[in-house]
Amino acid sequence: MRFIWPLDNHAISRDFYYRGSIYIGGQHMAIDIPANRGAVVKAVAAGKVREAGFSDINGNYVDIGHDAGWRTKYRHLMEPAFVNVGAAVFQGQVIGRVGSTGWSTGPHLHFDLWNASRQSPEAVYKVGVWAHNPELYLGQEDDEMDEAEARRIAKEEANFAVKVNRENQDGFNQHLINLIRQAITAAVADHAAGPHTGKDEVSEARMRDIAREEDDRLEVTKR
Ligand SMILES: [Zn+2]
Repeated sequence: MRFIWPLDNHAISRDFYYRGSIYIGGQHMAIDIPANRGAVVKAVAAGKVREAGFSDINGNYVDIGHDAGWRTKYRHLMEPAFVNVGAAVFQGQVIGRVGSTGWSTGPHLHFDLWNASRQSPEAVYKVGVWAHNPELYLGQEDDEMDEAEARRIAKEEANFAVKVNRENQDGFNQHLINLIRQAITAAVADHAAGPHTGKDEVSEARMRDIAREEDDRLEVTKR
């Protein structure tokens, strides 16, 4: 099961904890996510609305059932949920807006993640359900996308490194070829400008050419 975050904000103002049931405030079997009043609340996964209503504690709330025994509950909504009991919802569907109705000191979403059976060690048994820490489950889809993205980037970088290597190799080979060509040209010029021509003028011109080519070759080697 993959869950997206119910709000654009992914910060948590009060996390999931269980310190014991014998004193007040010893447990918070959900997370609180702060947001501006009126911020849209989205269904974290596709499912079907089990409950939608109002109570003094929860304020306006909606409870959605999902595949594999999962349930999510969204509390303290500003106004009644946008979906009715029995309605099918899709992942990301706007189901209400953040408010501060019920026992709440300011606008935030109190978000519960339950399952009929225990899915991970931190889960705590409540009446008929196991409360799970939403922080461990929300945004898994995002994480997987990040992993896929990371794999894609790693692959691109590897391909790029191979390409640069190959280009460097090609460049180096070309450099060697140029050096050899220049050496051959110089040798041929040497031979052509040899003493058998019998003309000093030509010989001098050839000597200058050879000297210039020598300079060029040194330039290439320095690079
Ligand atoms: Zn809360």
